Amino acid sequence: AIEFRDVVKRFGDNVVLDGLNFSVAQGDRVTLIGPSGSGKTTILRLLMTLEESNGGLILIDGDPYTHEYKGKKWVEIPEKRRRQVRRRVGMVFQQFNLFPNMTVLENIIEAPMHVLGRSRKDAIARAEELLEQVGMTEKRDFRTTELSGGQQQRVAIARALAMDPEILLLDEVTSALDPEIVADVLEVLRDIAKNTDITMLLVTHEMQFAREVSNRVLMFDHGRIIEEAPPEEIFTDPREERTREFLSAVV
Ligand code: ATP
Repeated sequence: AIEFRDVVKRFGDNVVLDGLNFSVAQGDRVTLIGPSGSGKTTILRLLMTLEESNGGLILIDGDPYTHEYKGKKWVEIPEKRRRQVRRRVGMVFQQFNLFPNMTVLENIIEAPMHVLGRSRKDAIARAEELLEQVGMTEKRDFRTTELSGGQQQRVAIARALAMDPEILLLDEVTSALDPEIVADVLEVLRDIAKNTDITMLLVTHEMQFAREVSNRVLMFDHGRIIEEAPPEEIFTDPREERTREFLSAVV
């Protein structure tokens, strides 16, 4: 589960999140939509601790992630404890971000071995299961630079799942892909949505994808949630004029 309480994020004078509140229950699949610059990616990056917030609280399963109230004041959570919480979160990026000088298998076993302390044998066994699940078994020993974008993205998904995350963040994971291979990646994600209870938070401009994978859509504008509804409602009959405008521009 994820909770944002009055979260503030600024870049210089640019206030991107101005006291944002929302929560996501375990097993929920939530899509964040909204115009460019509305703060969607920033939310995922805060959850990955790739960005620091300027105020408020982020909790993962009730555990504060960045700050806690101690001795009547707010103090930063020590890096070691933060890493433990961060381990529960996995992320897949638009540009894959695989390690280029490693094979597919090495990409997947790296973090389980070095972060979770798994044996090489166990890490490989799990990686092979995941490669099967994403349809990449034959490419196990290929270098990632030898793969197409869609194949790289499927490896990136397997790599994130290899850490057994409770929460999976997906940032525009199909945007860099040719239309004909988007379907393969969507198939993999639909499969995860159907067969696991991983909490998924996704940012996408593909409304069909949002409709198939998520059960809740949050519409952002200027760092605030202006509408929230199940996909079948918000995509067919949005309440807010701003949502209507946005959807007619992207579809
Ligand atoms: P998009 O749909 O284009 O990805 P988004 O809703 O994900 O947009 P963010 O990427 O979260 O938006 O960006 C929100 C705002 O924060 C933008 O105005 C952006 O310029 C600014 N921003 C993001 N990252 C940085 C950074 N590292 N330094 C300065 N400003 C940043």
